[in-house]
Amino acid sequence: MKVRNDIREFIKTVPSDITLVAATKYVDSIEMKSLFNSGVTNFGENRVDAFLNKYKALKDLNISWHFIGHLQRNKAKEVINKIDYLHSLDSLKLADEIEKYRTTPLNTFVEVSINLEESKNGVPYYETEDFIKSLLKYKKINLVGLMMMTIRASDDKDNQFAKLVDLRDKIEKSLNIKIPYLSMGMSEDYLEAIKEGATHIRLGRILFGE
Ligand SMILES: *Cc1c(COP(=O)(O)O)cnc(C)c1O
Repeated sequence: MKVRNDIREFIKTVPSDITLVAATKYVDSIEMKSLFNSGVTNFGENRVDAFLNKYKALKDLNISWHFIGHLQRNKAKEVINKIDYLHSLDSLKLADEIEKYRTTPLNTFVEVSINLEESKNGVPYYETEDFIKSLLKYKKINLVGLMMMTIRASDDKDNQFAKLVDLRDKIEKSLNIKIPYLSMGMSEDYLEAIKEGATHIRLGRILFGE
C-alpha cells in the first residue's frame, strides 16, 4: 500500500489535540518516510522484527515510536529502549522485563480487554484496577493511559469506548492517580472514539491507498 495522495488534507481533519499514531504494519520504511514528510511523526508498529528494521532505516528522523501490538516477553528487551510509548502492557511478567531492561521510565498504556470473549490480549476489564495497583511499584513504568481494541463488526462501539472511559474514571478515583490518555479508535471508528474521549487514535488503512 501507498500513502494516500491527499494525506495532508486528511491530517488537517484530525483535531489538533488528538495524537494520530500511524499504524504502519501495512507499509515499508519508504512509505513511512513519505508519511513523515507529510507531517505524521507518531508511528506505531505491531511486530518486533518489522519494528527493528524500520527503526534502523528511519532512526535519523525525529519520530515518536509507539509499540501497539502484543509484545512477547522474550522479545521485550530488544525493543524496550528504542520506543517512546508502549500501548499494550497486559501482564506483570512483561512489566518485570521492562523493569529489568529499560533504562528510563517508559510511557505505558495498559491494554484492557473490554470484550472478554473476543480478544485474546489485554487485561480483563474487571481485573484492571488490581493490575494497575500492582504496577505502581514499578519504577520503569510510567502509566499514562489505557488502550483498547473494538470488536470490528459490532454496532455498539460507542458503548465499548464509554466503558473504557468509565473504567479510567473509576480507577483514577479509587487509586487516587491520574491516567491522562486513552488510546482507542481505528480507521473505521476513530470519529466515535474521539467523541467519547480518545486522546490517541491508531490509524492504519485510512492513511493508505490501493
Ligand atoms: C492495525 C492496527 C490498527 C489500525 O487498524 P486500521 O483498521 O487499519 O486503522 C490499530 N491498532 C492496532 C493494535 C493495530 O494492529
